[in-house]
Amino acid sequence: MRPEKYIKNYINGAFVPAESGEYFDNYNPATGQVYSHIPDSDERDVAKAVEAAKKAFPGWAKMATDKRFRILMRVADIIEQNLEAFARAESIDSGKPMAMSSTVDIPRSQSNFRFFATAIMHFSSESHHIAGEAINFTLRQPLGVVGCISPWNLPLYLFSWKIAPALATGNCVVAKPSELTPMTAFMLGQACAEAGLPPGVLNIVQGLGPKAGQAIVDHDDVKAISFTGGTATGRRILQTTSQTFKKASLELGGKNPNLIFADCDFDQMMVDTIRSSFSNNGQICLCGSRLYIQRPIYDKFKEEFVKRVQFLKVGDPFSSVTDLGALVSKAHMEKVMGYIALAEVEGGTVLCGGKPVDVPGEYEQGYFLRPTVIEGLNNECRTNQEEIFGPVVTIQPFDTEEEAIALANGVKYGLASTVWTQDISRANRVAEQLQAGIVWVNCWMLRDLRTPFGGVKESGMGREGGLEALRFFTEPKNVCIKY
Ligand code: NDP
Repeated sequence: MRPEKYIKNYINGAFVPAESGEYFDNYNPATGQVYSHIPDSDERDVAKAVEAAKKAFPGWAKMATDKRFRILMRVADIIEQNLEAFARAESIDSGKPMAMSSTVDIPRSQSNFRFFATAIMHFSSESHHIAGEAINFTLRQPLGVVGCISPWNLPLYLFSWKIAPALATGNCVVAKPSELTPMTAFMLGQACAEAGLPPGVLNIVQGLGPKAGQAIVDHDDVKAISFTGGTATGRRILQTTSQTFKKASLELGGKNPNLIFADCDFDQMMVDTIRSSFSNNGQICLCGSRLYIQRPIYDKFKEEFVKRVQFLKVGDPFSSVTDLGALVSKAHMEKVMGYIALAEVEGGTVLCGGKPVDVPGEYEQGYFLRPTVIEGLNNECRTNQEEIFGPVVTIQPFDTEEEAIALANGVKYGLASTVWTQDISRANRVAEQLQAGIVWVNCWMLRDLRTPFGGVKESGMGREGGLEALRFFTEPKNVCIKY
């Protein structure tokens, strides 16, 4: 698999420029320099991609399941054989440490294809018997052409999390990665071509969200949209899909709480809280950004946490000792810095971080920021209510379980939450009351691909993962036979 300086769309099995003939720049956020160019696609490219997908659909939908399984398994194998190239491309595009892209992003992208390739071999539908009279059975048929749109934080990981179940269930796909991280999506096209995926089954249109992305959402022949990204974009997509009754699965923003009770396993909690705060520079929708600590251990937590955060190494994404690479873009760095300034205006104290990092040499123009811990803010301020999506956490003390739950639930989001306690009854009580699609107890980001994944409130609508994804990408049709 080869990254290329001029990235192409992948339409009907061919690598082609945008109809406009135009490209825009793709930056390496660690150097701040342009290193490749992205086709500036529009509705004409999307129309071509949808036509190709419609043409490919009857053949792909009717293909024997085990043949589809083999092709998708081959895609996974090819990603695995090219792990180094994929991981390098992901790190250059996103600024994340190669240590992460090679152990998390790319292995998980392979797993997504393997998981859904094998899942479809075991997928079955329901039957309901009316004794002595009739039998109902439910057909689960693919939808046709579906749209998959994903963000920049876990580029191939989230792109494949949508594409794999859509393809496994017999749909043809028009997909768009984020304009900030196009390269591994382009390379996925190469992998699919090599794996023998028939032309038109997967089409990858690169370009800008409001132009190429919106054209996918708007297209009448796209039957469903699977979207991961910000809440504002999700709201906009829902406005469009609601006009045409398109199915939509929306995985949106978060402002996740960590509830740390005094009886927790302190050492394990500390290790995982550092991870849940600053993995991928805090640019994971599941990262905890509001840390609530029970008062008896608040001071001990603060001292140890800040000490460890100050030790984290920020810099060269390709150094094996780097903990945090670059933020994804200049605009995002400015947004995160803006929130740190706002936190100070709102009365917060920056305990550590808060400043850009000068990484000399090749990386001196890169977007590096020290991991930041802030205390002294109330729960209602903007810093504690709005998604920052960077290496910034706030810490707040609490006294009782009820107070912790109220603080945790006191935002408009409801994606993930983490609870640290050794009291099994409390863990269950709290998990039951948290307004979140995902609750981790004494762990973080321990993922089982069979489980439902998604959020409540403004964190989204619908669920991905396991059977949920297979159901989203199929239409249930009941057939009733009287005998
Ligand atoms: P955006 O919402 O800006 O973009 C997401 C994707 O949508 C990108 O491919 C983008 O293209 C595209 N897009 C933008 N506008 C439109 C439009 N009008 N129609 C169709 N597509 C459009 O999110 P970010 O990329 O900034 O990602 C960060 C956000 O994603 C955070 O809020 C984070 O919480 C959330 N997220 C949620 C997850 C979850 O599972 N709930 C997981 C990971 C992230 P382009 O990049 O070209 O603008």
